[in-house]
Amino acid sequence: MALTSTAQSNISQKAHDLHFRSIVIDTHDDTTQRLLNPKFDLGARHSDGDIDIPRMREGGLGGIFFSIYIPGSITGPEAVKRALDQIDAVRQTVARHPNDLMLAVTADDVRCAHREGKIAALMGVEGGHMIANDLGVLRIYAALGVRYMTLTHMLNTDWADSSTDKPAHNGLTEFGKDVVREMNRQGVMVDISHVADKTFYDALEVSQAPLIASHSSCRALCDAPRNMTDDMIKALAAKGGVIQINYHIGFLDQKFRDAEKAHPEIEKEIDAETKKRCGDDEGCQTVVGDQVLREYVGQGKLPRVEWTEIIDHIDHAVKLVGADHVGLGSDFDGANMPFGMDDVSHLPQITDALLTKGYSDSDIQKILGGNTLRVMEAAEATAKRLQGEKR
Ligand SMILES: [Zn+2]
Repeated sequence: MALTSTAQSNISQKAHDLHFRSIVIDTHDDTTQRLLNPKFDLGARHSDGDIDIPRMREGGLGGIFFSIYIPGSITGPEAVKRALDQIDAVRQTVARHPNDLMLAVTADDVRCAHREGKIAALMGVEGGHMIANDLGVLRIYAALGVRYMTLTHMLNTDWADSSTDKPAHNGLTEFGKDVVREMNRQGVMVDISHVADKTFYDALEVSQAPLIASHSSCRALCDAPRNMTDDMIKALAAKGGVIQINYHIGFLDQKFRDAEKAHPEIEKEIDAETKKRCGDDEGCQTVVGDQVLREYVGQGKLPRVEWTEIIDHIDHAVKLVGADHVGLGSDFDGANMPFGMDDVSHLPQITDALLTKGYSDSDIQKILGGNTLRVMEAAEATAKRLQGEKR
């Protein structure tokens, strides 16, 4: 295949070929908020946002986990209703684009989609508050195709501590441990992005399947509580798990983080400006927030972060635990992307950069998606075994 788009024009033919024959999986995208708007067509090319079918094709994306997300402050039946609305929106989107998308619930489904030249659409629930303290709701999400759940978002749930809230439960409560056990039984991967360190260690101890960090980066390079320490990455890897690196500039770059901390008024201004342009439309906020922030970077009020820092985080984790335990979890359409990784069409640059660093083809393929497929298979095997056992 010849190099075509501008996003790909700077990469080698070898990188292009390797990238486009690999199964590339992104474990966290917040595009679902846009899918809730009936006027939004994922099949059309958009000048805003990070994700649509034409640009996923250009970026060689083979599998995407659409995030089912509502703020942690919304709980109970309202949270369940809104999660179901989003699951429905994803499933309707797949139904509307049968030639491009295929709903995938197993690793084999993802491979099948790839063989058929389609993009596998998967779902992850971002925040345990959406089960409304009910394992039955968790089972229903699983039956509808949800294949991971992040135990918390930014607030604690009634049964798990978040990394960005005051500790209330010393990690997971007894019910929280039951949630993890039921996730194992349902084949829903346990996602520890966003959780407090103690919650991570509790989940790691209880879970019979490997864990994922669907969109987290390395705390050694950027000291965000949402990122994983080297010890956590090692413990995750020792049990077969994968850290999928998040591209958000506030998780990649210490200088950016420090500047944000030093000037809290800037974040408030950006939020206010975003609200002014979008009102309460979360689909709009997700896209416009990033545009407004870039205007601030352009004015020199915040540091500019380059996309190559994604590679630094991948490389840090690989040096720590090897190429079997690292993947991609962009946070596209839900975070602030670094310069040069302006949308999903830029993904082949990652393959090119890893080749330039001397990574082998097979290690690159693992990072691009192979490792995520492996943890999916492990979750499937664990579910099969547990469902065969008497309760
Ligand atoms: Zn998140």
